[in-house]
Amino acid sequence: MADNVDDSQAAEAKSRQAAIDAVSHRPRGLGPDMSDGTPRCRECGEEMPAARLARVPDAERCVSCQEEADAEADAEAAAQAVANAEKD
Ligand SMILES: [Zn+2]
Repeated sequence: MADNVDDSQAAEAKSRQAAIDAVSHRPRGLGPDMSDGTPRCRECGEEMPAARLARVPDAERCVSCQEEADAEADAEAAAQAVANAEKD
């Protein structure tokens, strides 16, 4: 019985660590930073325009930061495609 309790605590610690890892990797869909009560871009800290939040309620970044992030993601995808092509 005691072993079962230990196991569930270990599993809980594991899932808590997974949650921390997920946050530190900043996946999309977290929404803006609301730590001071104002929706702010998680990248630059600028206040999020209401129009953007109306369109994308779970946006984490302002438009310019999102464009930068998308450009980086595109560049990464392109580099990955080149790497894959070279492999074949
Ligand atoms: Zn920003």
